[in-house]
Amino acid sequence: MPAMSRKFIVLCCVCGKRHDTNGDWSKFELPPVNDGETSYSHGVCPDCMRKIYGGEEWYQEYQKSLPEEPAT
Ligand SMILES: [Zn+2]
Repeated sequence: MPAMSRKFIVLCCVCGKRHDTNGDWSKFELPPVNDGETSYSHGVCPDCMRKIYGGEEWYQEYQKSLPEEPAT
């Protein structure tokens, strides 16, 4: 199959949200299905990063290095 058809989804191993190819983090309600086209990887979503590392100096420095996000 063409490589372009592959989907890549990152699952947050802390809260179970998924980061799909749309760039959105959403609650993962269905178990991952191995359809041969979707690759799953485990990571940590931004919300959990903040909860876990929010007090860490390196994380605060990292956040400062990111472009400002508009308040929602
Ligand atoms: Zn998470």
